[in-house]
Amino acid sequence: MAARVRFAPSPTGRLHVGNARIALINWLFARHDGGVFILRLDDTDAARSRAEYASGIEDDLIWLGLGWDEMHRQSDRLDGYAAAAARLKQTGRLYPCYETPDELAERRRRAQAEGRAPIYDRAALELGDDDRKRFEDAGRVPHWRFLLRHEPIEWDDLVRGRAHFEGSNLSDPVLLRADGMPLYALSSVVDDIEMAITHVIRGEDHVANTAAQIQIMDALGAGAGAVSFAHLPLLVGAAGEGLSKREGARGLADLRQDGIEPMALNALLALIGTSDPVRPVADMAALVDGFTWNKFSRASPKFDAAALVQLNARLLHESSFAAVRDRLAGLGVEAADEAFWNAVRPNLQRLSDAARWWRVVDGPIAPVIEDESYLADAAALLPPAPWDEATWRRWTEAVKDKTGRRGRALFHPLRLALTGREHGPELKLLLPLIGFERAAARLAGRAA
Ligand code: GLU
Repeated sequence: MAARVRFAPSPTGRLHVGNARIALINWLFARHDGGVFILRLDDTDAARSRAEYASGIEDDLIWLGLGWDEMHRQSDRLDGYAAAAARLKQTGRLYPCYETPDELAERRRRAQAEGRAPIYDRAALELGDDDRKRFEDAGRVPHWRFLLRHEPIEWDDLVRGRAHFEGSNLSDPVLLRADGMPLYALSSVVDDIEMAITHVIRGEDHVANTAAQIQIMDALGAGAGAVSFAHLPLLVGAAGEGLSKREGARGLADLRQDGIEPMALNALLALIGTSDPVRPVADMAALVDGFTWNKFSRASPKFDAAALVQLNARLLHESSFAAVRDRLAGLGVEAADEAFWNAVRPNLQRLSDAARWWRVVDGPIAPVIEDESYLADAAALLPPAPWDEATWRRWTEAVKDKTGRRGRALFHPLRLALTGREHGPELKLLLPLIGFERAAARLAGRAA
């Protein structure tokens, strides 16, 4: 059976690099397996979910190249959750609780002070009909908890290996709020069953949820082992700290704004935390081909924003003209050709830098004049057109013979006059692109 996986963000914000890695790994696994990648918006929390976040998440995924085969919104599926809750009530696995948030917080505080784990004490199970009636008469509306079996819960995690929990070490999870809205543990399990999900791939912050969800799945009649789990360690910053805003907990939207190529981010996120070296990868097909669970490490992958910028540059240096032509046009560099691209790409950190170099080639720029008479001598020696890559060498040999200059004294004033800049792409490649007219004008100190 081909895999069916889901990426299930809550639309309470835009995607950051941590979410993006989970989305990417789900997608790569689905494509590697010839399976189905589902986008599921976990939007039952009406107070915090927003339509603009949902559409932002879609934009982010599309930008990354992570198209989905099916899309679902939990807010459209409330009837199914209510039906599942009713079934669990019927079988005695869902029980009403009347504690207020303050009471629960107080119990947690007490447990902590006494050095006990803050596990729900199941006080509500002791209530009789009279107690419940008293609460309800007093206006309290119950929330509902799932009755965990106190037995071992185990699974073979695709990343973590054998996982083991004791039901007795977990709190009975709340599945229905007092207002009747389903909570994540219920809606997620119902969807995973109804959407015939084969692999739940998510962050390791969910492992304890998984232990409870395995029992909920079972209680809802999904066979044990119907779903495989993979829990990925969460990204940390370059020094091993939690991801700070600066390090890249920033949204994908920011990275995009900064000129990061989606394939640079995909390559980094697919390769960190695996046994593969981080390297530029030209397209998703290569990442799909190389996908295997065996490569994933249990250690927290380090996300380093500087490494991303570096990878971005390396990716551009290896990109063909065909791969960037349309986007160059979008940057206002419609007339750029392959010779231009090949000349400037080693100097790019971001694709948008190409527009700056186009200006250097196509003008006008203000030349920087260091030594007028030297430049006049050099201008007089400019070979006649047509120019090619050999022209620079021929010209500067002649300038050297005439002036006796060598090294930096020979070359640097020419670069400053021809490009207006201290550094840049190889002049033997730029010179034919600048052309005789502009070169002569710039050597004479005229903007051209
Ligand atoms: N909405 C949950 C989250 O964003 C989904 C977790 C899961 O994949 O089940 O954490």
